[in-house]
Amino acid sequence: MPLIADTTACVGAGQCALVAEDLFDQDDDGIVEVLERDPAPEQEADARRAVALCPAHALRLDP
Ligand code: SF4
Repeated sequence: MPLIADTTACVGAGQCALVAEDLFDQDDDGIVEVLERDPAPEQEADARRAVALCPAHALRLDP
């Protein structure tokens, strides 16, 4: 289940890294970095939470 971030849409709000620190980090400019592009089943809930919380709609969890 690929976890995808659109770094051109990311506004560096950091919600994703707060709710799923195993899955996301931010670079020096605050732009999202995906740490785990294929989350384990036990990480999916956190991934979905991050997708839902991102104010820029920059995250996607594909089926
Ligand atoms: S929550 Fe969205 S806007 Fe904020 S850092 Fe993560 S991807 Fe970027």
